[in-house]
Amino acid sequence: MKILGIESSCDETGVAIVDTEQGLLAHALHTQIAMHQAYGGVVPELASRDHIRRVIPLIEAVIKEANLSLQDIDAVAYTAGPGLAGALLVGASVAQAFAWSHNLPAIPIHHLEGHLLSPMLADPVPAFPFIALLVSGGHTQIMRVDGVGQYELLGETLDDAAGEAFDKSAKLLGLPYPGGPHLSKLAEQGDETVYSLPRPMKYSHDLDFSFSGLKTAVLTTLHKIEAEKGTLDTQNKANLAASVQAAIVDVLGFKAIKAIKESGLKRLVVAGGVGANKQLRAFLTDEMQKRGGTVYFPPLQLCTDNGAMIAHAASERVKAGLVDLSHKQYGESVRPRWALDELSL
Ligand code: ATP
Ligand code: MG
Ligand code: FE
Repeated sequence: MKILGIESSCDETGVAIVDTEQGLLAHALHTQIAMHQAYGGVVPELASRDHIRRVIPLIEAVIKEANLSLQDIDAVAYTAGPGLAGALLVGASVAQAFAWSHNLPAIPIHHLEGHLLSPMLADPVPAFPFIALLVSGGHTQIMRVDGVGQYELLGETLDDAAGEAFDKSAKLLGLPYPGGPHLSKLAEQGDETVYSLPRPMKYSHDLDFSFSGLKTAVLTTLHKIEAEKGTLDTQNKANLAASVQAAIVDVLGFKAIKAIKESGLKRLVVAGGVGANKQLRAFLTDEMQKRGGTVYFPPLQLCTDNGAMIAHAASERVKAGLVDLSHKQYGESVRPRWALDELSL
């Protein structure tokens, strides 16, 4: 069964085709990063308008890449939430219109379920059960995953997400949006021991996080450097970037391993944009190896938003018998706010 997947929750238009037997057949992406860069963040109205421009050409591109015709598609999946309402509505409308006109089921998918299951698009594929560290631009959660649709929230951020902490700190350092990858690159030239930043909630007796204090600490450090040295030179900028990365990776890594220890599980899955971070990958690979366990990541280009993870999540839901394929009603709206554990069986 061939599933077309459409992602449009934020600033990436992603489209893909996944076959329930053969896996990922094709995927294509348009990122709006350059468009939003001038504003230092995503402008929702511009995002929606751009999704409209991109989505049909991307559908045509994946159909062509997979050597298929429109008639070969058996179901259409789309991100129903969470995300920007106007942006979600574009994908939802296009998906439902396509499904309706071809008499196919339309499958609403939770964006975070897409991220969560995206490591299954890499090789080797993680088996259930596993602990998942979900670290994206808007979410930071630790979950226990016992199967498709079986998600237990163990801990989450009380304020900013890890990706947000990267992005806000990067902005303070004058780096372009989204700052995470830029900050991480700059950190390679820095010495993380020069400036010490707090590790918020590292030793709290739970699996929760708090990152909003980190940007204040970065700001305070910046002011101190400016008062002492006048300006922030390139080396000190890199040193501070290294400290920010070290602080975030330290807390994320510590809590992920704490969850592994407490659960007794041997498999850790990391998903979401921050899962592309090299230092986080290195730390967790090493820690899990020491424990005789394994850590799984999505393919690098599928860490941030994409259509493949949406088509894949739909494929997993279909295979798990969680989708009523005979249900062909097309009035379903989007859910800009939607907790992942509401999906649990
Ligand atoms: P959500 O899925 O919660 O709605 P989102 O879709 O915006 O949020 P993703 O696309 O999963 O989030 O990830 C984007 C985030 O990942 C940004 O905050 C970005 O800075 C961060 N990120 C991407 N690459 C890296 C990296 N190498 N190091 C650190 N952060 C990174
Ligand atoms: Mg994005
Ligand atoms: Fe996302």
